[in-house]
Amino acid sequence: MPKYDVVIGVDMGATHIRFCLLKRDGVMLHCEKLRTADVIASGLVAGLSARLHQYLERYDACCQGLVMGFPALVENDKKSIISTPNLPLTPTDLAGLADKLSAALHCPVQFERDVNMQLSYDVHEHQLEQQLVLGAYLGTGMGFAIWMNGAPWTGAHGVAGELGHIPMGDDEKQCGCGNYGCLETTCSGLALRRWYDSTPREFELSELFLYAAGQPFIVQFMQRTAKAIATSINLFDPHAIVLGGGVMDMSGFPLEALIRQIRTYLRRPLSHDVVRFVQASSSAFNGASGAATIASKQWFI
Ligand SMILES: [Zn+2]
Repeated sequence: MPKYDVVIGVDMGATHIRFCLLKRDGVMLHCEKLRTADVIASGLVAGLSARLHQYLERYDACCQGLVMGFPALVENDKKSIISTPNLPLTPTDLAGLADKLSAALHCPVQFERDVNMQLSYDVHEHQLEQQLVLGAYLGTGMGFAIWMNGAPWTGAHGVAGELGHIPMGDDEKQCGCGNYGCLETTCSGLALRRWYDSTPREFELSELFLYAAGQPFIVQFMQRTAKAIATSINLFDPHAIVLGGGVMDMSGFPLEALIRQIRTYLRRPLSHDVVRFVQASSSAFNGASGAATIASKQWFI
């Protein structure tokens, strides 16, 4: 008999992949970050299952279930990945992936959109499980997720919450999704990088909010971000909204000013007077840890 029952959370990004093994008693047994390309060099299923078997052997553990997140659209069956514009994977890699992993690991496997895992982590961290919570994660894209009735709410087909793709951006620019004018064409880390690269600068991209916060593009960036987030609050009437992501973690990001700006667009007196703004903690393992938490709720009963 193996010593431990564990569930595993995996957060797969374009550059890095993160693993978390969670024990039945809620204690994290192991977390590790590796380069995605190294892990899947021998093939996606072979590489992932070899790595996970290694962890299970090292800890003498038996896996009860795996939740794996992608920066992608995931269907409501929690097995079909529809679109992964930012990952080096082909449709052939993704075909039947959940079943292949499940067979290789001898446990159930479920896929999630990565922002849902992030929000699961933040909801758990701030003890908001019983509340209606939104998560706005401004990173490479404009990530957004909804927590409702004790779980991520994913819509009729699994693709709810695509705030980054509402048509409130630059109509002249094509988005990574193929459409023109998505919010992400102006409100995303990608848009910030494009602006930064458009002319020589005397500061690093990571210092943008320290040196260029008053530039018209950045002023407009903040205003559009505030309008988009305010729109989501006016639509959902949440108890709380979590704000985070790589852009909001940058030095000098004016979070307080953003919250003030969001509040100017909220309906009064409600949600204006009651909605709580919560800052996401920014550990690199939040996604994988959130995935492990989702897995534990599912398979540690
Ligand atoms: Zn789009």
